[in-house]
Amino acid sequence: MRPLLALVLFTAAVVAAPPNVVVIFSDDHAYQAVSAYGHPLKLNKTPNIDRLAKEGMRLDRHLIPNSICGPSRACLLTGKYNHANGFYDNTRSKFDGTQFTFPKELQKAGYQTALIGKWHLVSDPTGFDHWHILPGQGIYYNPPMRKNGVQAKETGYVTDIITDRSLEWLKARDKSKPFLLMCQHKAPHREWAPALRHLNHNNDQPYPEPDTLFDDYAGRGKGEKNQDMTLEKTFTDLDAKFKYPANMTVAEKAEWDKYYKPRNEAFEKAKPTGKDLVRWRYNRYLHDYLGCIQAVDEGVGKLLDYLDAEKLTDNTVVIYTSDQGFYLGEHGWFDKRWIFEESLRSPCLVRWPGVTKPGSTSGAITSVIDFAPTLLSAAGVKVPEGVHGRDMTPVLKGESPKDWRTSFYYHYYEYPGPHSVPKHYGVVTDRYKLVRFYEKEFDYWELFDRQADPKELKSVFDDPKYADKRKELEAELAKLRKELKVPDPDPPETDLRKR
Ligand code: CA
Repeated sequence: MRPLLALVLFTAAVVAAPPNVVVIFSDDHAYQAVSAYGHPLKLNKTPNIDRLAKEGMRLDRHLIPNSICGPSRACLLTGKYNHANGFYDNTRSKFDGTQFTFPKELQKAGYQTALIGKWHLVSDPTGFDHWHILPGQGIYYNPPMRKNGVQAKETGYVTDIITDRSLEWLKARDKSKPFLLMCQHKAPHREWAPALRHLNHNNDQPYPEPDTLFDDYAGRGKGEKNQDMTLEKTFTDLDAKFKYPANMTVAEKAEWDKYYKPRNEAFEKAKPTGKDLVRWRYNRYLHDYLGCIQAVDEGVGKLLDYLDAEKLTDNTVVIYTSDQGFYLGEHGWFDKRWIFEESLRSPCLVRWPGVTKPGSTSGAITSVIDFAPTLLSAAGVKVPEGVHGRDMTPVLKGESPKDWRTSFYYHYYEYPGPHSVPKHYGVVTDRYKLVRFYEKEFDYWELFDRQADPKELKSVFDDPKYADKRKELEAELAKLRKELKVPDPDPPETDLRKR
């Protein structure tokens, strides 16, 4: 190719229209339940979500700074840790919508912006031309919603409603402008109520068990022993489907009963106890949780089909990710919150034609805080000072930037709170985790070597063999806290009183 022609083509590529962006953000979707991640127990199939892995990149170490719903959403919008965006936990925080968010900047840059589905940040959304949200956590059947500040009546199953409203917004948009659509599912959040069409999606086949289902938490501290998130002790009648999910119609209940009633009667007759009861709950939980994901996967398929049909695929970045990871019976648990792998790590698949190579993967440490700078850069918008995340375009291209992060800071704050997981912070590398449980009633450190102990069953903090590694990680943790300007104490007591 002649140099001049090459230059002209290069210039044309640089000034190409800014890409459209579709962020599909589900709630509590474990990477173990995305078939593209190849879980050894092969729990389910997600063919539509997997399309993004086949046609784009699968990120294998995508980490969340604070693994619960609201805080992760605040990280997504701001590209900042919670000590900087002010949203620490689900029980006390309210998002300050006047601060910087990437949708707001994209809106200023000429994008049409919409957020549909779960919001969970207490204050009303800002930076969106259109928003249509579930109040709080939302419910699965016939959910009340709020559309641009006005109550909206909805009938049907929540995941289908969020998908349909997203498609309606796309169809009605101004086609002369680029768009940002944030499609944020409630599913598969607790209480894991599937769509009626997905009941018995597993044909009553039992699920293989994780080998830590009956973990005794030996080798770890008081926090792990005292938590309240086990299938054995924490699973409620609503979780077990001995009660109906909220707001179902009479007809829906009749359909629901066709599946659950005979199985619940068999349970009452058998009255399993001990390990048999945990096993029964594990199977009920997985049927329901994975059933919810079926509708999410179908919704992803509908959105991808729409982009194809409208010839938008080539100029649209599509991200599928979840606000955090989730336990599917590992360590006897459901829920999230911990710095440990199943909770900390979220599935993340990115299809960006011209950037991601089809079928590629990356083991680089990426995070929900990287989306804001990445998407702003894609749109040619300057990333402001104070954003903690990084533009991950080079990682998405398959490059290995020399200065890419090799360690990651984590901080969980919601204690006392649901599931009684104590406050902790720590540093994560590709192989190690150093964790500090810092409140008076706990006050201990842990160190895990994931190469020697991939299931994080035994802290080696006091093992002399790891003394040097421990020192190195303590220094790294102090360095990260300094770089990120983490206040001490965090959050400062004055901020707590303000809320
Ligand atoms: Ca969540």
